[in-house]
Amino acid sequence: MAQVTYENIYSDNSSHLKPQCEKCFGICCIALYFSVQDGFPTDKSAGTPCPNLAEDFRCVIHDKLGDLGLRGCVAYECYGAGQQISQVTFAGRNWRLEPSSADLMFEVFLVMRQLHEMCWYLTEALSFKLPSPIGGEIKEALYATKRITQFAPHFLLEFNLSEHRTKISVLLKNTSKLVRSEISRTNKVTFNDDKGRKATTDFLGRDLRKKDLRCADLRGACLIATNLEDVDLSGTDFIGADFRDANLRGANLSNSIFLTQSQINVARGNSNTKLPISLSRPKHWESENTTK
Ligand code: SF4
Repeated sequence: MAQVTYENIYSDNSSHLKPQCEKCFGICCIALYFSVQDGFPTDKSAGTPCPNLAEDFRCVIHDKLGDLGLRGCVAYECYGAGQQISQVTFAGRNWRLEPSSADLMFEVFLVMRQLHEMCWYLTEALSFKLPSPIGGEIKEALYATKRITQFAPHFLLEFNLSEHRTKISVLLKNTSKLVRSEISRTNKVTFNDDKGRKATTDFLGRDLRKKDLRCADLRGACLIATNLEDVDLSGTDFIGADFRDANLRGANLSNSIFLTQSQINVARGNSNTKLPISLSRPKHWESENTTK
């Protein structure tokens, strides 16, 4: 990765914040605790390699994860933290050849993953072309966060992550409000900042096809198994929302806010689902076209 400067923080982001498994030592498949119940292939403790991880750090069933119903693997998103740890923080030294650094590497990965996630959201916020002063504040926060990702392992572990996260959360919340109010103005939608939060954010299994959710604040909402077929979700903030098994066939998410690839990966959609340009249509959606 190029050295972080204030000028290049935005321009070099697209590849840096996407997983590049070929540059990673399979860290997420070892560092995390996971269970069959959460859609992973086995129950295992943190620090134990998944049995499907090959000697060359590739997943031997990678092309079949969706078909095998391994939703935990499909949904997991490191935001590029894996390659950062492997190639930058530990400078290409892998845990197989250097077992003494393995525990430190896995511990630091958990911090790096959160920092990269913050960078992803801040980059997304910058894409909205925000006015000052918030546009400048977001740029400063992104610059600061990217600088932190270059710290040495022990400094990363000592860093006050929760304090930093709180500051970023406030910026993202203010961004959301500004962007939603602007989209509602241009789309002539009545803007109510509490929209979507007033009654509940637990929509588990509900049919939401008749609800107007445009420009709503659905941060952290439970949308598991909801029916959002053909719903216009322009300007809706989905940061942290749970989309497992949500029906997004034909839904318009092209102007939704803070929607991530991992959220899309665990939902159901088809070729008529409109996605933001930064996200890719999951492969397993192809078969959904025939089951509509
Ligand atoms: S099945 Fe593959 S992607 Fe999932 S944890 Fe194991 S090695 Fe990683």
